[in-house]
Amino acid sequence: MKSCIIPLPDEAATLQLGAQLARVSQDAVVIYLYGDLGAGKTTFSRGFLQALGHQGNVKSPTYTLVEPYTLGNRTLYHFDLYRLADPEELEFMGIRDYFSGDAICLVEWPQQGEGFLPAPDLVLNLRYVGDAREAELEAHSAYGETLLSACAQGGKPA
Ligand code: ADP
Ligand code: MG
Repeated sequence: MKSCIIPLPDEAATLQLGAQLARVSQDAVVIYLYGDLGAGKTTFSRGFLQALGHQGNVKSPTYTLVEPYTLGNRTLYHFDLYRLADPEELEFMGIRDYFSGDAICLVEWPQQGEGFLPAPDLVLNLRYVGDAREAELEAHSAYGETLLSACAQGGKPA
């Protein structure tokens, strides 16, 4: 299976999806998070981070573009490129270093960095469904497929 849709009836479900993916992510992984403002990209990231042991706040790094986390022996970079004026700025901030190691990278608004970001393993499209949400997950690498099948129980084929 290359993609699936997971219904997210409430915030807890979005947190849970993040946590589920965090638990199955073993290696370096790049996850793109698409979705309108308020669709749940940061909520997903919070669930992901908390499952890796992060305690405390998770805010979108809207002004700093990236927030680094060290969790045990793992490194996670949470990007929010919403305010990126020009994707070339990513070169100046040393984007390659962030993606060259074995860090987990969660990227909100990846379309803002087009051409300067590495290809994702997994893409999440978060969408409004009335007051609830749904997530369409797409695998973009073999590793992404592994992650997707590990967390797709409960989802239906797209
Ligand atoms: P984004 O980062 O995409 O702009 P946030 O995660 O910051 O969005 O905000 C999402 C908002 O929607 C939060 O107020 C959160 O409580 C709420 N929310 C998250 N997931 C769901 C869901 N599945 N159903 C309903 N509300 C949700
Ligand atoms: Mg956000």
